[in-house]
Amino acid sequence: MKKTWAIVTGATSGFGKAIAEKLASDGLNIILTGRRLERLTEISEKIAAAYKVKTKILNFNVSSWSECQTKFDEIISIAPEIEVLVNNAGLGRGIEKLQEGKVSDWEEMIDTNIKGLLYMTRLVVPHMIAQKSGHIVNIGSVVGRWTYPGGGVYSATKFAVRAITESLRMDLMGTPIRVTNIAPGMAETEFVKVVLHGAEIPKAVYQGMTPLKAEDIAESVSWCLSRPKHVNISELLIYPTDQAGVGPGYINRKT
Ligand code: NDP
Repeated sequence: MKKTWAIVTGATSGFGKAIAEKLASDGLNIILTGRRLERLTEISEKIAAAYKVKTKILNFNVSSWSECQTKFDEIISIAPEIEVLVNNAGLGRGIEKLQEGKVSDWEEMIDTNIKGLLYMTRLVVPHMIAQKSGHIVNIGSVVGRWTYPGGGVYSATKFAVRAITESLRMDLMGTPIRVTNIAPGMAETEFVKVVLHGAEIPKAVYQGMTPLKAEDIAESVSWCLSRPKHVNISELLIYPTDQAGVGPGYINRKT
């Protein structure tokens, strides 16, 4: 892989943090984004020291078009060659049935998971077209294919990620730019804590089963990027071995 720049959104925890670290270990310079500045600083310094790559942090809310535009101008001044965009920033909020759901939760999921991904993609893709290379990796979910009770809006955002990924691949036909959707199953990150509005994750969530680790997803991103240029991994569905499908009935618990 050429030593150029990758943007990883949502690099303050979970998948994004692991992806930033893995891509740095592959030799890419990294732009880490997220809202929590202290974490960005700490992770960025650690990665730069460990892998001898350049890092830059951009502290902003991906669901704001104006913030994305302003920060993107900064990105281009630092890193005119962006080889990789990993659209990872995202969240689930709430577990209520649709008829009891909070509109503010729906809006946050839609604004982050769909609009944030669209904004970053809209800004980065023209540069990739002009430089005649690039790879967009979107972090979707297995719930972008199958849904579950209480998950209508979160699932809808991940169905949207899959739709946007597939359509973008068609829009970019004739260019060398690759587009990938990585769709993980259950993984142990801060995701559930955010779903529960900051409450501690109940022990029962991962009891008796082994979820995916953030590093498993980081490995898969790295693998997709490192395929030969004529190979576009369009989608990867990645479950933990203890999960066979979406919904509580498909988790194998050893207790
Ligand atoms: P985490 O909660 O650990 O990480 C989420 C990241 O997204 C954080 O870095 C957070 O940064 C960032 N983020 C959230 N909202 C915004 C925002 N408005 N602006 C900028 N950054 C934002 O969860 P995961 O690592 O698990 O989640 C990463 C992605 O993976 C998400 O898209 C999620 O939907 C998806 N996913 C997760 C699965 C799981 O089981 N964990 C399974 C399948 C998919 P900060 O708060 O600092 O802004």
